Amino acid sequence: MTGTVYLVGAGPGAPDLVTLRGARLLEQADIVFHDALVHPEIVALAASAEKIPVGKRCGRHSAAQKFINKRLVDAARKHRVVVRLKGGDPMLFGRAQEEIECLAAAGVRYEIVPGVTSALAASADLGTSLTRRGVSRSVSLVTPRTGEGEDPGNWVRAALAADTTAIYMGVGEAASISSALIAAGKPAATPVVILENASLPDSRCVAGTLGDLPRIAAQGFAGPALILLGDVYRELVSATAVQARKAAGF
Ligand code: SAH
Repeated sequence: MTGTVYLVGAGPGAPDLVTLRGARLLEQADIVFHDALVHPEIVALAASAEKIPVGKRCGRHSAAQKFINKRLVDAARKHRVVVRLKGGDPMLFGRAQEEIECLAAAGVRYEIVPGVTSALAASADLGTSLTRRGVSRSVSLVTPRTGEGEDPGNWVRAALAADTTAIYMGVGEAASISSALIAAGKPAATPVVILENASLPDSRCVAGTLGDLPRIAAQGFAGPALILLGDVYRELVSATAVQARKAAGF
């Protein structure tokens, strides 16, 4: 007899941005393995579960990932409801496939519960549509972070092809992102926004241009942050717009 492993999206940060399905599963969970970034109030929904923090903030090593995979399989052999709680949506930049493959190979039942990804929460905070009519008809979600054997350049092609781009896990390498995109032909004047702690009370936004990105990224972002890029952010880049938004609370 094995239980089911639920890969549940915890949403971008705010404790009430988890889905009802996710919250109900947490209430039934026997054991929860959660990412470091998940809000403690969401983890606390799993009132009667054993709660195990897994994974570092960023740069999880594959050895650690293998260990998580194994623990999920082991947990499913002992418990009925196993929840693997992941930040944002589990299927975006979350190593979900490795966990799914491992569960499938071990014959463990699994289900995936989607969550609100941080790019969508960031857009809500900014009040700027990713697909503003007349300006943007395409969005790419990219990361410059590569896994073994991946082409390090293909995120640049995706960012060039789309009208709006959200770059995950990129703030730490803002200088190389800026130069790679400019070298590939993206104008240095392209509007850029860095949004930290989307959906949380301490969310912070800094706006500038692609040419400025290394400088604005150096302002010290301790929380998780996204780089957003595209003409939809042109108004935000004007200092007055940024001031007005700061006065409005972020
Ligand atoms: N599965 C997650 C992404 C995991 S990768 C999702 O769907 O959102 C981790 C990256 O997500 C971080 O480096 C950062 O770029 C972004 N991120 C996660 N939470 C965030 C938040 N609250 N605000 C801004 N960016 C966030």
